[in-house]
Amino acid sequence: MNLHEFQAKGILKKYGVAVPRGYAVESIEQAEEAIKKLAAETGSSKCVVKAQIHAGGRGKGGGVKLASTFEEAMTHAKNILGMQLITIQTGAEGKKVQKLLIEENVYQKGDFEPKEYYISVLMDRSTSRNVIMASTEGGMNIEDVAHDSPEKIIKEWIDPAVGLQDFQARKVAFALGLEGQAFKEGIAFIKALYKSYMEADASMIEVNPLLRTSSNGILAADAKINLDDNALYRHADLAAMRDISEEDPFEVEAKASDLNYVKLDGNVGCMVNGAGLAMATMDIIKLSGGEPANFLDVGGGANAKTVEAGFRIILKDPNVKAILINIFGGIVRCDRVANGVVEAYKKIGNISIPIIVRLQGTNAEEGAKVITESGLKVVSAILLKDAAQKVREVLA
Ligand code: GDP
Ligand code: MN
Repeated sequence: MNLHEFQAKGILKKYGVAVPRGYAVESIEQAEEAIKKLAAETGSSKCVVKAQIHAGGRGKGGGVKLASTFEEAMTHAKNILGMQLITIQTGAEGKKVQKLLIEENVYQKGDFEPKEYYISVLMDRSTSRNVIMASTEGGMNIEDVAHDSPEKIIKEWIDPAVGLQDFQARKVAFALGLEGQAFKEGIAFIKALYKSYMEADASMIEVNPLLRTSSNGILAADAKINLDDNALYRHADLAAMRDISEEDPFEVEAKASDLNYVKLDGNVGCMVNGAGLAMATMDIIKLSGGEPANFLDVGGGANAKTVEAGFRIILKDPNVKAILINIFGGIVRCDRVANGVVEAYKKIGNISIPIIVRLQGTNAEEGAKVITESGLKVVSAILLKDAAQKVREVLA
């Protein structure tokens, strides 16, 4: 599950990670109140207005604006709230900004020049360990750094048996070149960041920029947290932070029906039982000249209800030109799935796109018979090869 920046900073703060003072708002009236409150608390009208959407690259897209006066802050708030923000991560249609974070400007000039670093904690699957990644080249172009000069990314792997050791936090802070107060605060920051990651059951925490302030302090100027969905049952408070309006509506509906669905850009919808078979089916679709419109695993106990829910979600996607249903009858019998397909087909009605059903395994022949005799415009195939051929034919 993804969180907004203000929620991520709220969590980090709880674990002792230094974050700027700020307030999240949802309306212009609230923005006005927050700007005034912040000015009173910090003794300065300087602030930053930040769009809150589930996507990065907001700065470059015009979703992060600095203000020096109350009027300027209000103008930015009015412009950003409600705008369709397009960033490299939102796709061409962008995302509507429904929330803002009004924050103190932590980049004030002083004895030290503010400097941007990068730091993150995530799961490294190749070593089965959590890893802290950090770089002196923080800011808005970390992807380029990773690509062009990977040696500038420091990595520190954590032994799960003993957790993050003090010397490792010192090593990272030292490698970043932090000195004096920043070195001390950097160590505390890294330890608190790792603690947040562990205790919140996060799958990723990214702070970019990690800021060395003009007073040689350390602060999270931006924060992104991904939570592990499988651990959310342990965190009612974090689960309640879910913002469904930021998620893909198809995926939200699929989740509600207990379907494993990922929306893609292609033209062939697919409904499969089992994640491995679903991956193989997507390969077959590609090999036959189509592009998968989705990943959909209906699970082991596919029945008329799950088949119908899957159908409905796939059919809502206007790009879908054909549907391939690929079910392996192991525990579930093919004739029951076939009956489910026919039932769902009749119930939804008006399905004008071709549907290819490939049933294999227990009672495959009986299943094919149900499909063929239903009188519906459903094409039956028993071999995967035939199914692929039929996808090719209907797309031609
Ligand atoms: P992102 O583009 O979505 O990653 O959003 P960020 O929160 O990282 O903001 C983008 C950029 O805005 C940062 O890299 C900073 O350079 C800048 N920025 C963010 N907060 C402040 C601030 O308080 N003061 C100043 N001067 N710049 C800021
Ligand atoms: Mn950022």
